[in-house]
Amino acid sequence: MAYIQGQARDQTSLFPVSLEDLIPEDHLVRVIDAFVAKLDLIRLGFDKAVPKSTGRPSYDPADQLKLYLYGYFQRIRSSRRLEAECQRNIEVMWLLNRLKPDFKTIADFRKDNKQAFSATCRVFVQFCRTVGLITGDLVAIDGSKFQAVASSRRHLNVKQLKRQQEKLDKRIVQYLAELDEADKAEAGETIDRSAIKTALEQLEARQLNNLTCQALMKSMGIEQFNTGESDARMMRTPKGPRVAYNVQTAVDAEHCLILHHDVTQDGNDTQQLEPMAKAAKEQLQQSELSVTADAGYSNGKQFQACEEAGITAYVSPNRAVNPRSKEKELFEREDFTYDAQQDQYRCPAGKLLTLKQLNKGERIYHAAISDCSNCPLKGQCTDAQRRYVSRHAHEEAFERMEQRMQANPEMMVSRRSIVEHPFGNLKQWLFGNGRFLLRQCEGARAEMALAVSAYNLKRAINVLGVRRMMELMG
Ligand code: SF4
Repeated sequence: MAYIQGQARDQTSLFPVSLEDLIPEDHLVRVIDAFVAKLDLIRLGFDKAVPKSTGRPSYDPADQLKLYLYGYFQRIRSSRRLEAECQRNIEVMWLLNRLKPDFKTIADFRKDNKQAFSATCRVFVQFCRTVGLITGDLVAIDGSKFQAVASSRRHLNVKQLKRQQEKLDKRIVQYLAELDEADKAEAGETIDRSAIKTALEQLEARQLNNLTCQALMKSMGIEQFNTGESDARMMRTPKGPRVAYNVQTAVDAEHCLILHHDVTQDGNDTQQLEPMAKAAKEQLQQSELSVTADAGYSNGKQFQACEEAGITAYVSPNRAVNPRSKEKELFEREDFTYDAQQDQYRCPAGKLLTLKQLNKGERIYHAAISDCSNCPLKGQCTDAQRRYVSRHAHEEAFERMEQRMQANPEMMVSRRSIVEHPFGNLKQWLFGNGRFLLRQCEGARAEMALAVSAYNLKRAINVLGVRRMMELMG
């Protein structure tokens, strides 16, 4: 039996097939085309949004934006690969009307429009808000580390430099001793003095370099620095320490759409709750907002700031643990009664614990040694000479948070299901577990804005379908 046969390559056609015939009515590229057509590129700040009246015409930023949105949607981030797609991919040919910009032009467009990508991302979020895809009932905040372009081999930190300096000092002393030996050597002995001198000079140059780096970092007030990408920081990731950025997202619970994102240099999330929640509230233009985040966001000062801004946060409070014994259970902080007027604690034995010191936002109270040493409950209270109890500077905000979390235990479960979807997609689908392609915070922000736009676009199409999206954009 014969095989299924294709059409002969040299077959001509009386009515040639147009690109329009090849792209189905419900194809993704039609949504990208309709979305970009609606954008006011001048207001969004795109470079060359107004064509020049003289000289060689440039590419329309709308065409290049379409190419990038399509590229990020299809996990194609490199400008060279996008150039190749322009020459062989029918969908891109349809989208760009067969334009074929070279990789340099494509790369320059991404480099020159970093801020405009963030503005474009916000416009799509506004569209989703208008059509009801984003309701703003509950927002989950989460962060994840994305690797930077720079290599960890080019990363310096003060501790490492100091260790290096000690080693260099020892080796210099050793070489100086060898030089002395060479000076004292008898004429007949063969000690190569010039080789020792050269090695010594090299060590001294390295030491000077080391000390200069330390002095510079001290004057800049920083503990770490990457010579390849000054904005990037060494951060803990599931794969171990990496030079990375901490990407923060605020995700709407309704359809897991990202309504706000940011790229930060902070290795942890403790300072991110308030700025992210406030930015999400502003984006939603609501007077009140409920947000949820994991224990990594626990920060009493920010809990209070959120309450004052009309934001109800649901975060597992993470606080300093009071003294514990390995062998036995000791009294918890809750067993001590706080007297707000006197600013002191009363212990289970009825003795007073007074304020001893303030330490990084913690208030430390202690009992008198004489009280504890004669106390029959000491075995249940402390193994030390006296008992200490710590109280956070924003303890009341912590207590309110604890009450909220006890009343709404389902919040932590909701949080996980909302935030895992976007980061799973961004990391595996868009970045392929790879790293950023653009350097510095600004570059990482531009790339993340494109990635978030592609993610939101995909999510909106999954929920509404292409035809409905086209109707709503029309
Ligand atoms: S050990 Fe000290 S703090 Fe603890 S119950 Fe006794 S007196 Fe109070």
